[in-house]
Formats: sequence, structure tokens, C-alpha cells
Amino acid sequence: MRILLVEDDPMIGEALCVALRDAAYAVDWVHDGKTALLVLDNQEHQAVLLDLGLPCCDGLEVLKKLRANGGTLPVIIVTARDATSDRVKGLDLGADDYLVKPFDIDELLARLRATLRRQGGHASALLSNGSISLNPATREASHGDVVCLLSAREFSLLHTLLLRPGTIFTRTQLEESIYGWNEEVESNAVDFLIHGIRKKLGVGAIRNVRGAGWMVARNT
Ligand code: CA
Repeated sequence: MRILLVEDDPMIGEALCVALRDAAYAVDWVHDGKTALLVLDNQEHQAVLLDLGLPCCDGLEVLKKLRANGGTLPVIIVTARDATSDRVKGLDLGADDYLVKPFDIDELLARLRATLRRQGGHASALLSNGSISLNPATREASHGDVVCLLSAREFSLLHTLLLRPGTIFTRTQLEESIYGWNEEVESNAVDFLIHGIRKKLGVGAIRNVRGAGWMVARNT
């Protein structure tokens, strides 16, 4: 899962990047609203954490333009503006959630998980295709009788596949969902991660569709 962080405060931004990466997200960080809009055009991200008080273009303007262009990306506003009228405005402009600074990082991560699973059409906290289950809060996966803990990147890859069972993901799509801009991607990184997941969960956990990519079956 790849997150766009829009935050102009260097200390808050740095702390959020560390916390998100620790929680197995790839993070790209931009510092103003104008750059955020340019980046959002590329559709590389699965969710946005959006500050409101930003240089160049206020966060609410960013949100308004994103929704006006038909962008459906989940947006969580993360701001010091705590008035009820601000919350109402943010949510009515199309934000999925609204969190007031200062906040507990565990709450932000839980809200992010909730927003991402709703976006994927899942109500349950446990992601499953009927045979594989994944707990985004603990990175624990199960397949048949096997239960194991995935590495951050393995989790990220399996999470991407499980959000859309039955959909084939290309190498590029998988790379884009698990690596940020500043991370070097080895040419065989995806193969390496798939191999690691299959070793833990069994060869049948992930299907390779020759010449096209990888998928998990839709069993339900
Ligand atoms: Ca700010």
C-alpha cells in the first residue's frame, strides 16, 4: 500500500513517514498543495493523508479539485483545525475521515486500515479471499493450517492482491504499490517477495498468470 503524505511541517512529516514505513506502507511525502495535485494526477497511491494549512494551495482546495476531477482516492484529513465547522466542511467536500492534531499514531494507523478496507469493499478487519486470510493490524497471514508472520514488503504485496481477488496485477503495478519514489527497486524484487510468501503459505497461495502477472483466486 502506497500512501501520499501532504504535510508542510518537517517534524510532523518526518515522524509520520517513519511511523507509516514501520507499519509496512510505502510513503511519498510532498510539502505543498500544488505539488500534491500534480502527484495525484499520476494515480500512484492508494490513500492520501492531507494537512489543511499548506503553502501554495490549501488542503481543502486540494480535496475539492481532486473530487471535482473524479478522483475517488481515500483521503484522511490530518490537521490542527479542530472546529466542528471545519470537520463538517472537510467531510462534506469528500474526505473519508478527519483526524485532529495532536493524535495518537495508533489511532491514525487504525483509521487508515479502516479507510483502505472500505475502499476495497471489505467491512471485516480481516482480509480474505476464502482461503487466504490477512490481518492488516498484525501482518499475520493464514492459508489452510498454516499461520505465519509476513515481512513488511511481503505483507504489502499480499495485501494489494487480496484487496482485489481475481484481478491480475502486473509487475509494474505491484512495484508501484509497495515502493515509494526514493526507494530503489531491484528487477527481481517482486519474484523474490512472491517466492517468500509461497514459502510461508504454500505454492498455491499466489497464482502466476504467464506473461500477465500474479493474482489470488476469488473463492467467495
Ligand atoms: Ca500545515
